[in-house]
Amino acid sequence: MKVIVDAFAKINLLLDIAGRLPNGYHSLHMIMQSVSLCDTVTVERGEGGIRCACPGVPTDESNIAWKAVTAFAKATGLNCADTCITIEKRIPCAAGLAGGSADGAAVLAALNILHGTALSAEALCRIGASFGADVPFCLTGGTRLALNIGDVLAPLPALENVTLVLAKPDCAVSTKEAYAACDAGESVTHADLTRILFDASKGNYARVFRETCNTFEQFIEVADRVPIKSVMRRHGSIFSMMSGSGPTVYGIFQSADAAEQCAGELRTFLRDVHVCTPVGEGLHIRTV
Ligand code: ATP
Repeated sequence: MKVIVDAFAKINLLLDIAGRLPNGYHSLHMIMQSVSLCDTVTVERGEGGIRCACPGVPTDESNIAWKAVTAFAKATGLNCADTCITIEKRIPCAAGLAGGSADGAAVLAALNILHGTALSAEALCRIGASFGADVPFCLTGGTRLALNIGDVLAPLPALENVTLVLAKPDCAVSTKEAYAACDAGESVTHADLTRILFDASKGNYARVFRETCNTFEQFIEVADRVPIKSVMRRHGSIFSMMSGSGPTVYGIFQSADAAEQCAGELRTFLRDVHVCTPVGEGLHIRTV
């Protein structure tokens, strides 16, 4: 048996670094949204290892997909050394879109099927949180409030009837350095979570977009962020913001045609531009 999983990318509709947890980690207030841009991860039993043709993605045990194998084996006591993983990569790497976490979530869900372990969604999330803060969200997906380090999740009404353009500038952002820049920042402007939740819980995302923020945008410089947003605005985007610690900037459009035209113009100066839609799940799983 083979388990084939479409593992969806995420964007942040809110990312506020709210403070510090007692263990020194950053306390985050986030709204996460799964989008249709996905990696396809095939998992079967055979000669153990990872195959991935995408440059920059490791194929050794440092791949998040293999960390999922190790964490699953530890939690269940099973020997999973025969896990054979093929990753067809479409989500840009180190882009703020949680591509690695999505692959890790896909492998956990696939191993649960391949080994017939029937672990609950909660159990899989606990295992996922042990090797990646975004993995619990990627296992569940849709539109969610994510708190703490991203492991405390609650469902929100779906973001619907919009088309998204994801534009990744040709530069890399180190998440560690991005957090360091925020820590060194003098005065941080925070979002009003109470108001945002009031509006989001009613599905009123037009109001959420007026009040939301991504703290990283206040402290890190990303090439082309301003021109990308201005192209998006000119094509009628109702909102644009950076996702995660960047550098990807997304725009939200009510018209699919306008989104396509915007993507066309962005492609004149960027290589990595994707048109996609919100989706209500983190993983789409099939077996053959
Ligand atoms: P996040 O939004 O969760 O911060 P990201 O989108 O910024 O994630 P990823 O694409 O998940 O970043 O990966 C960051 C780094 O992790 C990559 O530069 C790569 O070297 C490494 N990595 C390990 N496994 C994977 C994987 N399966 N896919 C992509 N990158 C991986």
